Amino acid sequence: MAHADAEAVLDGLDDEQRAAARAVSGPVCILAGAGTGKTRTITHRIAYGVHTGTYVPEQVLAVTFTARAAGELRARLAALDVGGVQARTFHAAAMRQLRYFAPRVLGGPMPGLIENKLRVVASAATRNRLTTDRTSLRDLASEIEWAKTTLATPEDYPARAKAAGREVPFEPAAVAAVYASYEQAKQRDGALDFEDLLLVTAYALEEHPDVARQVRAQYRHFVVDEYQDVNPLQQRLLDAWLGGRAEVCVVGDPNQTIYSFTGADPDYLLGFADRYADAAVVKLERDYRSTPQVVGLANRLIGQAPPRKGLPGLRLLGQRPQGPEPRFVEHPDEPAEAAAVAARCKALIDEGTPAAEIAVLFRINAQSQVYESALADAGVPYVLKGGERFFERPEVREAVLLLRGAAAGGNDPGMLVPAVRDVLASTGWVEHRPPAGGAARDRWQSLAALVDLAVDLVAENPALDLAGFVTHLAERADAQHAPTVQGVTLASMHAAKGLEWDVVFVVGLVDGVLPIAQSLSRPEAVEEERRLLYVAVTRAREQLTLSWSLARNPGGRRARPRSRFLDGLAPGSGPTAPPPRRPAKRAKVVLEGEAGELFERLRAWRSQTAQDASVPAYVVFSDATLQAIAESRPASLRELSGLPGIGARKLELYGADVLATVSG
Ligand code: ATP
Ligand code: MG
Repeated sequence: MAHADAEAVLDGLDDEQRAAARAVSGPVCILAGAGTGKTRTITHRIAYGVHTGTYVPEQVLAVTFTARAAGELRARLAALDVGGVQARTFHAAAMRQLRYFAPRVLGGPMPGLIENKLRVVASAATRNRLTTDRTSLRDLASEIEWAKTTLATPEDYPARAKAAGREVPFEPAAVAAVYASYEQAKQRDGALDFEDLLLVTAYALEEHPDVARQVRAQYRHFVVDEYQDVNPLQQRLLDAWLGGRAEVCVVGDPNQTIYSFTGADPDYLLGFADRYADAAVVKLERDYRSTPQVVGLANRLIGQAPPRKGLPGLRLLGQRPQGPEPRFVEHPDEPAEAAAVAARCKALIDEGTPAAEIAVLFRINAQSQVYESALADAGVPYVLKGGERFFERPEVREAVLLLRGAAAGGNDPGMLVPAVRDVLASTGWVEHRPPAGGAARDRWQSLAALVDLAVDLVAENPALDLAGFVTHLAERADAQHAPTVQGVTLASMHAAKGLEWDVVFVVGLVDGVLPIAQSLSRPEAVEEERRLLYVAVTRAREQLTLSWSLARNPGGRRARPRSRFLDGLAPGSGPTAPPPRRPAKRAKVVLEGEAGELFERLRAWRSQTAQDASVPAYVVFSDATLQAIAESRPASLRELSGLPGIGARKLELYGADVLATVSG
């Protein structure tokens, strides 16, 4: 492409963005707030590098953290007419390389992958004589993941967990033992988990000079989006890829660090310029995504966070025309909140807003259920992000098998879309007749998404045939990149990172859900929750609604305090302390001297309290703590505070209730 065309790539950028895009070689760091065009800048920078002939497209590796975000990068690169550049998640990139090098570094084919740790963790726990339930199993799995992403061995774990203030339902030594058994079981079965994928790939590069030579010859330019969320394991892989070279561009926003609990560390971003003395450091301030109203709210929200050392001020300047004020809405209960959101979605869609331009964002996946039914009731199509993986849905597996069979029978280029339709029709799918709701509708939408994908791909490459399509599907399944389904997006705030919609509903903003109860005892964890809300609100281009409901269920106690982060943001609301939690049920009888009886009452209190706050019971108190309370029968807050598992925050939240339960 001529040089003038390369310059044209830069037309859509402002001066600072352009400066960053022109810096095609050497280390570059863009440190900037949400919606300032970081992702746009790196895609244009890659396009500029390719069009000026500085980069060979196949030698550029752009990595990010979620399959969705990688898909977003690929789509934006395709729009800039850049083919051949690899845009992947760390995992997908590692998987591809390892699959290729497995025979050389592991002495055999690529081992099987453990997609879900829980089963292996469960037997490891049993081997270590731990009694677990679903929640504690999930916790154990998270601890193992955290240890592995922070490069801690089972031997390191207890000390590291203590230093990091990890809260676990078992003794750190017990967790370490489960971690060790888990690793042994994996090794025995010759399987790898997701963390191993990165670890073994890094190891292959570090220990096998021939592998390193080959990979480093293949990839010469690296770009990392959302770099604030890189963890030590990913950084180690990135370093192994670089092998001492400095051809790396990182972009991120420290205010959007939302994965610290899994080991991410924004210091890699903040310290980049120290590690690369000649780095070009670019700051962006203009927010091109959102209206000044949304930007103002985002600035106020993050402005209330305590200042962090070494963190540059990243105030945003809204660039878009004025829009509606963000709305703050209180509802009596969750179904009412969901019904209101669904009704609003329906009205917007009827007025012409595409469903795909609307998102409903929540803190935990369990919140999605009530929105799924409300949207289904209102006849609004929706797509669940971060739910069941697209390529693992039964109808998609079946369709892919049938497509593969059809491709083997030979096919005509230019006839891809009709061929895909034919195959799907053989499963009973009728293109223009989506079923009314529920599972049938989900199924229909999954298959429709496959047709849409075929249409998109043919637009890019008219010669694509069925065999090419099937190969493409297999690659996507590897990269876990689901095609876009038309519908309102239901997503967790974590899964929404890097994305944007015209209309965003941030729902369920109740203290104890956001910030989530597990975070309340640690100020730094509460701050991560604030950043999560910042990520959520900065997804909105125009309309933003924040809502919460006083009770969980209709007719329930309307006692749930609104999220503390809304204080000072929502109109007519000064900062107020959340009201203390009261037990919903008072104990009826005290059997003198019966610690067991008291223990049962404490458990009943705990389960009600946990239910009210939508958190697992152990988050309120562990069994061990309840037992200690039942045995020692504290009569004052001071006595209570001397017991194991009772920190200042728990004392404040639950102290009075516990004493009341003890005294009957
Ligand atoms: P996040 O931190 O949320 O990932 P980001 O900094 O990566 O945000 P982008 O997604 O790149 O921001 O950009 C936000 C929106 O603003 C996009 O729709 C993008 O196309 C648009 N945009 C960015 N820069 C410009 C510009 N110079 N002119 C016009 N639109 C722009
Ligand atoms: Mg981005």
